Amino acid sequence: MKSYRKELIFHTDQRRAFINITPLVEECLRESGIKEGLLLCNAMHITASVFINDDESGLHRDFERFLEKLAPEKPYSQYEHNTFEDNADAHLKRTIMGREVVVAVTNGKLDFGPWEQIFYGEFDGKRRKKVLVKIIGE
Ligand code: ZN
Repeated sequence: MKSYRKELIFHTDQRRAFINITPLVEECLRESGIKEGLLLCNAMHITASVFINDDESGLHRDFERFLEKLAPEKPYSQYEHNTFEDNADAHLKRTIMGREVVVAVTNGKLDFGPWEQIFYGEFDGKRRKKVLVKIIGE
């Protein structure tokens, strides 16, 4: 069995962002040489997500509005976590959007359903963050 590991680095200008990382993950898969197996991709921070959905800008604005309704960024004082930090909303948003995705690898390709794309969801950006890609198989 082959095994591959890589860390992808992100540093967004804004506090929140959705980035389509599918091309980067596909590059990892090519580099791994693995044709059949499983690919795990996870955020290595508790204020960021990796999730699968549609690459459609209207939907991304809907996600932003949906998450702001559930866990609004401000006022910062509404959260018990915000004593030394101001990122309680980011922890909550990350929990809603999830930590990781697992994708089947078939014939050397990500075995997606229609419209599936992998996104990095940043909820407390403006600093360096990491995403792990781990691939196992033959
Ligand atoms: Zn925090």
